[in-house]
This record gives sequence, structure tokens and C-alpha cells, in this order.
Amino acid sequence: MTQTKVKSIQNYVGGKWVTPKSDQTEDVINPATGEVIARVPISSDEDVEHAVEAAAEAFETWKEVAVPKRARILFKYQQLLVDHWDELAELITVENGKSFKEAYGEVQRGIECVEFAAGAPTLTMGSQLPSIASGLESGVYRYPIGVVGGITPFNFPMMVPAWMFPLAIVTGNTFVLKPSERTPLLANRLAELFEEAGLPEGVLNIVHGAHEVVNGLLDHQKVAAISFVGSQPVAEYVYKRGTQNLKRVQALSGAKNHSIVLRDANIENAVDQIISAAFGSAGERCMACSVVAVENAVADELVEGLVRKANGIKIGNGLDEDVFLGPVIRDQHKERTLQYIETGENEGAKLVRDGREDQNIPNQGYFVGPTIFDEVTSEMKIWQDEIFAPVLSISRVENLEEAVQLTNQSRFANGACLFTNDGGRVRTFRETIDAGMLGVNIGVPAPMAFFPFSGWKDSFYGDLHVNGQDGVEFYTRKKVMTTRWV
Ligand code: NAD
Repeated sequence: MTQTKVKSIQNYVGGKWVTPKSDQTEDVINPATGEVIARVPISSDEDVEHAVEAAAEAFETWKEVAVPKRARILFKYQQLLVDHWDELAELITVENGKSFKEAYGEVQRGIECVEFAAGAPTLTMGSQLPSIASGLESGVYRYPIGVVGGITPFNFPMMVPAWMFPLAIVTGNTFVLKPSERTPLLANRLAELFEEAGLPEGVLNIVHGAHEVVNGLLDHQKVAAISFVGSQPVAEYVYKRGTQNLKRVQALSGAKNHSIVLRDANIENAVDQIISAAFGSAGERCMACSVVAVENAVADELVEGLVRKANGIKIGNGLDEDVFLGPVIRDQHKERTLQYIETGENEGAKLVRDGREDQNIPNQGYFVGPTIFDEVTSEMKIWQDEIFAPVLSISRVENLEEAVQLTNQSRFANGACLFTNDGGRVRTFRETIDAGMLGVNIGVPAPMAFFPFSGWKDSFYGDLHVNGQDGVEFYTRKKVMTTRWV
């Protein structure tokens, strides 16, 4: 592709597509081919100022729009997203690399968030007590908080922004989104379709860029709240700086998700689920299964099954039929992953499947084959760190208690899964494991939009999570009125 054919992405401010003040740009690359597909602006503080002012102005009228009327725009938006499902999924595959099937599922997850948010008239109702004392009544009324800033990662270009802006907007707030600079294309399409659904100008704004835009949002006096999703160090930084500036902040962070396989489990199901959870989306999921603790009694059977199944995985461009494993996001990320594989070997883990040696990997793009380590211990970096790539670690344990004790050593606590058919052990797992999202006999226990997305420990900073009633609480504030009728 020649330089001139590459599309320059624009910001979306006050209902208009605008060229940022900053002339700095970064290449957007299709990770399956290495090809430059667009150029994203690295916007400046001035661009943030422009967008926040537009959002603050729009807030004054948007907050007055009746809730059912706001919800109706979301119903229309939902229909447009359904109509453009294939197109959106293809765009995700092109900019992120995940297979078309995974991308299609991601669009579904995004649409579900819009469907949940469209219930705003019910979700945002207050409550009353008509008789708190003789002749006295009290009631709770819910209101929006103002301008919300959203900062999102590369791995879910549709689902993660959809966790934020539909609910924030339907509850009466206005929004400034800063998508990942590595996957900025889908966000603009989401804004175009929202505009087509009838969203008034200035209610949703997009400022593309990197840390300068993030800092601009974190420091801006007119930004009331920040929703962040990304890696652990950045989540911690965003939470600290945002709260220091007296904003509401929810910061969803990195993860290392554990599965426990017990001797009574259906091993065939465990193999299928773990393969999909570990290597789907090239392991670049905050809910990816990256560590398995397996009871000694079934360890050989499980490991053999995982290796056999991983050997059958088709690697390649996610747009090609039957491809399961696409590339990781960038060359640097591939290099980092290869270094982790080397580290695992040096730490003494047993490499039972080496993804560096896959023969059927395309020449271009940033591919790493499915990699499996056995006999991994909690002292090893490959056990501790979020690798965020198709690398799976297996530890062998004597029983459930040892597995839980091992898992709870992790600083992260996003998801955890148990494979068993023993109800009593399910209860022990639920009561003793440190994790916010639990699964039994499934690989990726990601909750649907009407439940909170609920990481613990270093996987989340804040108190109100995204989605569900937590999301409604985060994007609203309350008045309590007490009345004496005289
Ligand atoms: P990232 O932290 O590199 O980037 C996230 C966002 O922060 C981007 O918009 C980026 O521009 C911005 N950013 C990056 N560095 C910054 C800095 N120094 N200062 C200010 N802003 C900065 O994350 P990523 O690589 O895009 O996404 C992958 C990470 O996101 C993984 O760690 C994954 O676990 C996590 N994630 C978590 C969840 C969850 O629900 N907990 C969901 C999805 C992804």
C-alpha cells in the first residue's frame, strides 16, 4: 500500500469529524499482515480541551432529555449495530487480529451492553418511602454526573467501549472516549452509527491518541468520572491520578486467570474449554486462562489432551476460514512473548508444546503458536506475570485445597474456573478462591452485561465495577428528598 492511500483517522467532537490540532500520528497496523491500514492522530491537550468543552456544553441539554427518549435512541442504535454486525466484526479482525468468529462474538457482547443500557427507565428509577414518620415521606432520585472520560485497551475494540458509553450516555451523561491507538478504527464506526441512530451532537466525542490525552482527561476540571480498562501499571496510575483530582474512577486492570482441574472432572470438556480460553483471541483476553492447576491423578491425561488439541489449531489471518489462532497485536508484543518462553525454559518449566516451532505460521504478521509449559511453580515469572499471549502454564497439585492456596498467591484475581462434578468441592472453591468472576466447567466466565464485571485485587481499582447495577451507580448520583405535606 502506498503512503497516499493510507486513511488518516479523525477525531469526533461536537458531532463533527475534525482534524486534531496535533500533527503527530502513529501507524495502525493489521497484525496479520504487518500492513499499515491507517494513521491515527496522537492528539494533544488542546484537542482534549476542545472535546471536553463540547461534551460539557452538550451535557446541559442532554441531561434534560426524558429518559425514555434517550432509551429510544439506544433501541435504534441496537438495530443499526445488528444490521452492521458482519462489517463491525470484520473491522475488529482487521485491526486486532482475532478470528472473525471471535470478533463476531465480541460484537454480540457489545450489542448486549446496548440492550442492557436501553432499560434505563427501569434501571435508573429511584425509590420512595411514603411514611418515614407521621406525615413525612422520603424519596431517592437519580441524576447523571456530567462529562465522563473513557480510556480503552486494544484487545476488545467494541466490547470494552460498549461497557462504558451506552450506559453513561443513556443515564444522561456526555462522554469523551479515547480508544486504544493500536485499534482506533472501530470506535469511529460506532460513533457514526450512534449519530445515525439520532444521538445529538456533543453527547459522544472521540479523541484519539496516547498518554497525553489520558492525562488531559484525568486533569480536566470538567471531567467528573473516568472509566479505564487496560494493563495493571496504567490502571494503577489512572486510578491514583484521577482520584487525586477528586474524580470518580473505575480502573479495570491486568489479569492472570486460573483454572483448576480435579480428578472427577470431564477431562474432554476441560481440554476443549481450556484450549479455547487459553488460545482464543491469541491469549489477549483479560479473561484468558493462562494458568491451570491440575490434580496429579489426572495431570498426564489433561496435559496430553491439551497438547493434542493444540496441535490441531489452525493459525493464520483471522479472516480466513477455520482459523482459530490469529496474530498478537504488534511485533514488540511477539518479541516479548518469545522472551517469556525463553524465561520459562530458563526457570526450569517443562516446555511440552513450543509455539515457536509451528511450521504452518504465515511469513508476515506477528504470530506465535500455542505454547504449553508443564511443571510450573509459583516462583516462576511465567506463573506470576500477565504474558497476554498464547502461552499456558500448568502446575500439578495434590488436591483442591493446594490448588486454591496456590491460586490465591497471585496478585491478580479476575477470573477463576473449576472443572469438577462434585458439588461440595464447587462450594469449597466458591468460598475460598480469590477472584471476582468464577466459572464451573466453563473456560471464560465473563459475565453478561446485566451483571458486574467484577475483578478483585490488582485486577481492579475502585469500588463500582462496569456493567450491571454497579455501572448504573457509577454513572449516576442521588438526591434524597424528605417532605412534610402541610
Ligand atoms: P494499555 O494499558 O497499554 O493501554 C490501555 C489504554 O491506556 C490505552 O488507551 C492506552 O493509550 C493508554 N495508556 C497506555 N500507556 C499509558 C500511559 N503510560 N499513560 C496513560 N495512558 C496510557 O493496555 P492494552 O495493552 O491496550 O490492553 C491490554 C491490557 O488490558 C491487559 O493487561 C488486559 O488484561 C487489560 N484488560 C483488562 C480488562 C479487565 O476487564 N480487567 C479487560 C480488557 C483488557
